[in-house]
Amino acid sequence: MRKLVLVKSAPEIFLKGLNRNKFEKKLKDNIKKVLDETKYEFVVDQGRWFIYSEEIEEVVDKVRKVFGISEVCIVTEVEASMEAIKSQAVEEIKEAGQVTFKVETNRANKNFPRNSMDISREVGAYILKNVPGLTVKVNKPQFTVNVEIRDNAYVYSKRIKAVGGLPYGMNGSTMLMLSGGIDSPVAGYMMARRGVELHCVYYHSHPYTSERAKEKVKQLAAILSDFTGSVKLYVVPFTDIQMSIIDKCREDELTIIMRRFMMRIACALADKLKINSVTTGESIGQVASQTMEGLIVSTDVADRPVFRPLIAMDKVDIMDISRNIGTYETSILPYEDCCTIFVPKHPKTKPALDMMRKAESVLDTDRLVEEAINNMEIYEL
Ligand code: ATP
Ligand code: MG
Repeated sequence: MRKLVLVKSAPEIFLKGLNRNKFEKKLKDNIKKVLDETKYEFVVDQGRWFIYSEEIEEVVDKVRKVFGISEVCIVTEVEASMEAIKSQAVEEIKEAGQVTFKVETNRANKNFPRNSMDISREVGAYILKNVPGLTVKVNKPQFTVNVEIRDNAYVYSKRIKAVGGLPYGMNGSTMLMLSGGIDSPVAGYMMARRGVELHCVYYHSHPYTSERAKEKVKQLAAILSDFTGSVKLYVVPFTDIQMSIIDKCREDELTIIMRRFMMRIACALADKLKINSVTTGESIGQVASQTMEGLIVSTDVADRPVFRPLIAMDKVDIMDISRNIGTYETSILPYEDCCTIFVPKHPKTKPALDMMRKAESVLDTDRLVEEAINNMEIYEL
């Protein structure tokens, strides 16, 4: 008898047809990566994935964050005999109190001499006889004892919801514009959860934005890397660009021109690093620069797809995700962002594309972008 973690992959992966093997291989590699320093053994029993370890809780905690896994269960492996199954089933439920329950059996090993219905019935009857205060309820019971019969038998009742999504690294790559705010870490998480490899860029306006603001962004990238294995953060100096805009352009156009530079740099960097796309944390109508016109004007300078996974979400829902993934507490730390230090009194909310292109033509954009990239710092988190 030993305890194992049963790993259930997201149902979507079963629908991948001929690609299913590739997805499963990636998923397995990703699981192994997060378990790197944990002592464990991967056990495959008739297509089911189990992880054996002395540190079950730690394994559960790490594996439930791997994208592409829908559920992890703590199971007890016993020999495939009715006696062993029944006695473990009693162990599972005896601390549960006065609950309604059912036994659910999955018999993958067709050589086992009873069918699933019979097994469930017999185990259920045994539980009723040996644990007082329980009632059988087939529809929506409070407690379910699961039995799986394979080469061995597996009995479990603890099912822990995992993050879902698709295996990280299966769906191309993106350059996430990561600020210190609430939104962009959530946007990055959502892309990564769908299997998109994440790289982050942060625009830093030294000395107007402090070292602590940069540390905060590093911390956010580190939280994201809990899910992805590791993440690279490119810190790009942004002060010269902002100063040039202030110097040469109208005040009400500052924000929008700044956003065009952010987009240009993200694309140029993505190009250099062979990254397919750009992601931002923008949400339509959230602030003055995130109007439809504003988004059009910033997308204008992009040379690859720009993803905005939060575009149609309400702030409160974004905040909920942020709390769930553990970025919220860091995001609300009160350090300044480069967007907030030079805010025009009356920013343009409906910029016209032609006018913005013209307004910007007084700047040496190529040189500014190149210099910024040449002076960036790179962190691996
Ligand atoms: P967030 O909560 O992500 O900071 P926000 O609601 O504060 O977003 P803005 O400040 O207008 O909105 O920024 C919109 C998006 O632009 C951000 O979600 C992020 O993707 C990007 N962005 C803003 N500032 C920076 C920065 N300093 N470095 C990198 N990206 C940034
Ligand atoms: Mg912000």
